[in-house]
Amino acid sequence: MALRLTVLGSGTIVPSQVRRATSLLVEGGGEDILIDCGPGALQALEEAGRSYRDLHRILITHFHPDHTLGLGRLFSAIKNDMAVTGLHWIVIYGPEGIERFVSGWDDLYGGIVPGDDTLNLVMMEPGYEIDIGDMLITAGHAEHGGRPALAYRIDMAGRSIVYTGDTSRSERLDRFASGADLLVSECSFPDESPAEGHMTPAMVGEMAVSAGAGEVLLVHMYPFFGEIDPAAEVRRKFRGKVTTGRDGMVIEV
Ligand SMILES: [Zn+2]
Ligand SMILES: [Zn+2]
Repeated sequence: MALRLTVLGSGTIVPSQVRRATSLLVEGGGEDILIDCGPGALQALEEAGRSYRDLHRILITHFHPDHTLGLGRLFSAIKNDMAVTGLHWIVIYGPEGIERFVSGWDDLYGGIVPGDDTLNLVMMEPGYEIDIGDMLITAGHAEHGGRPALAYRIDMAGRSIVYTGDTSRSERLDRFASGADLLVSECSFPDESPAEGHMTPAMVGEMAVSAGAGEVLLVHMYPFFGEIDPAAEVRRKFRGKVTTGRDGMVIEV
């Protein structure tokens, strides 16, 4: 069975007609995994024919709002949805500070976070590994302005997906992504206007070459590319298949 990746969102915090904030759904290992939970992620899940009601595992790369605002909705939905039974459970994996971050939601909204019988929080650090269904999930180090930030790698039956999260280019990340069949990379800004803590198409191309990736899927594009197709720019460096992510796109690995 292949790993199946659905792009629930391919954009950023800046609203766009065509891109929600970046969130990914990975299926095929016996349990579905949501990676990042930005504004619109749960709605996109429903539109993809899935439901948060069937979702038990969420990986968070870092705490910026484009990757986490959907968690407030998730907590509130669990409390208000009569179709969600008392047996519902959810595990959220995230970087250092995950406990403080989630308790912040509770302070802000006055007790919306489900109790320990429903919600478990697991702090991940670079190098930590967890088994979920048939998948091995490994956390990697992302460079995002000095904040706690992770990349994730999913391996199953000899196939692999690596998602960079938000990050600048680093040799550490190249090694983490080594041999990935599918490298899902953030590609925030055009090469002419790079920004600290993020990548441009040329950087993604160089990373894909260094890592020996099989193919590349671009996500987390700010709406500043205009007529530029970021995938075409990546192809100047990397000879493999490169796809500019679109919301709703499905890729099997
Ligand atoms: Zn960020
Ligand atoms: Zn972001």
